[in-house]
Amino acid sequence: MSAPIGRVVVAGNGIAGLTAADALRANGFDGELTIVGDEPHAAYSRPALSKALLLDGGTAAHELPPATHGAKEILGVRACGLDVERRVVRLDDGSDLPYDGLVIATGSRARRLSGLPGEVTLRGLDDALALRGRLAGRPPVAVVGGGPLGMEIASACLAAGCRVTLVSQGVPLAAQLGPYLADVFVRAAVERGLTIVETAAARIEGRAGDERVALDDGTVIEAGLVVSAVGDVPNTEWLAGTGLVENGVLPVDARGLVRPGVAAAGDLAAFPTPSGRRRVPLWSSAIEQAKAAGAALVRGEEAPPLRFQPYFWTEQFGLSLKAAGRLPVDGAPVYVEGGPGGPGLMRWSRGDGSGTAVALNHRVPISRLRRVSRTAP
Ligand SMILES: Cc1cc2nc3c(=O)[nH]c(=O)nc-3n(C[C@H](O)[C@H](O)[C@H](O)COP(=O)(O)OP(=O)(O)OC[C@H]3O[C@@H](n4cnc5c(N)ncnc54)[C@H](O)[C@@H]3O)c2cc1C
Repeated sequence: MSAPIGRVVVAGNGIAGLTAADALRANGFDGELTIVGDEPHAAYSRPALSKALLLDGGTAAHELPPATHGAKEILGVRACGLDVERRVVRLDDGSDLPYDGLVIATGSRARRLSGLPGEVTLRGLDDALALRGRLAGRPPVAVVGGGPLGMEIASACLAAGCRVTLVSQGVPLAAQLGPYLADVFVRAAVERGLTIVETAAARIEGRAGDERVALDDGTVIEAGLVVSAVGDVPNTEWLAGTGLVENGVLPVDARGLVRPGVAAAGDLAAFPTPSGRRRVPLWSSAIEQAKAAGAALVRGEEAPPLRFQPYFWTEQFGLSLKAAGRLPVDGAPVYVEGGPGGPGLMRWSRGDGSGTAVALNHRVPISRLRRVSRTAP
């Protein structure tokens, strides 16, 4: 059993911070709990920002149930430094927050391709509301990035009545989902009117207010609105000088501990997986990591290590996909229910005995999806 802790600070008020706070309480921590977050909002559902919230009628789609952890919340204030020896978090309002236990959950931000102000990215609630506002004017849109986020944004822009060109390195979604599923999504996207342009590398250039996308073959795509969705960058700069950060990410052990008394969870943390220590910047990953990290701060070695099975979902172009298990998947699946071209539950098996289950436009509880991924039908 680790020594009892009296004061815990959680840096970051996203889903990892919120879940870690709940996990601390669930594991018996009844001391002083403080959450500091640089966004002025209560914690919300980030995945909803590129789905229901961008569409008409999705006004409150991002809201989460009110927090029950009883923490003091300091919002709109940034953690800007950490003294691990003195156990103090420095805030950008000039104050210090001493702690006995610390959870680092400051997530990540959108990677940008240019420094131009007209390059729109989508990471936070304010970004989503601003983008939704822009879509009301139905500008021609260029989206750079053929991953799930770029495709979801393109889908919402089309649904808003915009003409949309998606610029992708290779076939959209192929790197994330594999060729079989990527093909299903690309066909649905093209049927709905999406123009897809493949390029090795796109640049965003022009003058402020007149941005455009330049492709490697010299083609230039003019658009009234340029949105990029090209990955994320962990928010670890405020930890400079602590020695905790390696190559921009925060390595943690199997329980989410960085060192005694300091845990980390969510998009900025690299944790041990069967394919090595890595970041898995997904919603369910942040939740599972934060549960483990909160428990480890209270119970130390007695807390169970993280046993993470990837879970991912996306909604775009009239399709809804839920996946349990590793992605991307190679080759064609075995259909457990339904069949090609329609709704279905499918499974991919690998040589090592592991599997991935995918529900496409098919209502299946997550628990069943996980079971199908573990057991060949
Ligand atoms: C638009 C969008 C759609 C997504 N859709 C999906 C999806 O469909 N499925 C899926 O699995 N995943 C999805 N994701 C990814 C998922 O949302 C993230 O993996 C998850 O939100 C990570 O949670 P987190 O708490 O680690 O980080 P975050 O949610 O980024 O929260 C970190 C918080 O800390 C704040 N912060 C940063 N620096 C500081 C600082 N120095 N001091 C104080 N506060 C700070 C940030 O502003 C933020 O509020 C999506 C992400 C985006 C952006």
